[in-house]
Amino acid sequence: MTAKRDLTTTRKQVFGDVEPGTECRICGRNVEDGRRKVCSDYCDNIQTAVMGMLNWSSLRRRVIDRDDETCTQCGWDREIRRRAREHIRGLIAEAAGEQPTSPSMKELGEQDDVDWDQHRQRYREWRERRDAAKDKYGDPERDFGRSLEVDHITPIADGGHPFDPGNLQTLCTKCHTEKTAVENSERASTPSRGDLSRELTEFVTDGSGK
Ligand SMILES: [Zn+2]
Ligand SMILES: [Zn+2]
Repeated sequence: MTAKRDLTTTRKQVFGDVEPGTECRICGRNVEDGRRKVCSDYCDNIQTAVMGMLNWSSLRRRVIDRDDETCTQCGWDREIRRRAREHIRGLIAEAAGEQPTSPSMKELGEQDDVDWDQHRQRYREWRERRDAAKDKYGDPERDFGRSLEVDHITPIADGGHPFDPGNLQTLCTKCHTEKTAVENSERASTPSRGDLSRELTEFVTDGSGK
């Protein structure tokens, strides 16, 4: 059984806890004016900015936006996926021919002896041509389903910073899988990298994240 990878970092973990209405968790000044844990908008903005850095999903979004939604290794982007799918769908449709349709209710009313065996045969043949074309050209849904992911340029296990945008890059699924495979084989002789969430939590709660 594997531990759930919880990448959530709480304000309490980052700034420590304070009694509401006592001292500012950011600067330590007195909290007044009905405020709870920060003394001012200034400190509230600092809190929000820091939490944004430590929140994986917002950081991930920022990195992908910064990289123009494009794989920094191979240049793949969603527009390439859209055009590739469209192109492959066209090739398959051309190779398979028009899909045979079942006789309509109108046709069924007009003719009393529909040749179902012939219809099933035509449909089977069409499906075989379509599947052969998918084998040849690729399945537009399955084989072009790459998406964008965010990669740690220097892996956390090798001392890379987990949240510094400078250590993060956008990769497509394919490039990310390849890079990870190389990293894992290089690391095969060294001890296991352990659990990501534990490393992130340690980073945040001790050492440089204190
Ligand atoms: Zn303050
Ligand atoms: Zn790529």
